[in-house]
Amino acid sequence: MLVDQPHQCPCCDYYSLRERGAHEICPVCYWEDDGQDMDRLDEVSGPNHITLRRARLNFERIGAADPSAEALVASADERAGLRREQRATFN
Ligand SMILES: [Zn+2]
Repeated sequence: MLVDQPHQCPCCDYYSLRERGAHEICPVCYWEDDGQDMDRLDEVSGPNHITLRRARLNFERIGAADPSAEALVASADERAGLRREQRATFN
């Protein structure tokens, strides 16, 4: 069961991270938080091997930052307990 945590994930926009830039794996989308955020959408993230823009689009489509994590991400029930403030990704 996920608990409410204070920091917003740069990929899925849920408040799912205990701290930022600590290489924590987001339990909602499986993005590894290397500190990158919306101001660097088109930079390839080292640990994630894709851009944040691509990961955000993946999340909108399949609920995971990357298709390889699709089976690992939080269920709809687990997500329901978390706060989310969705931010727009401009293409
Ligand atoms: Zn996330």
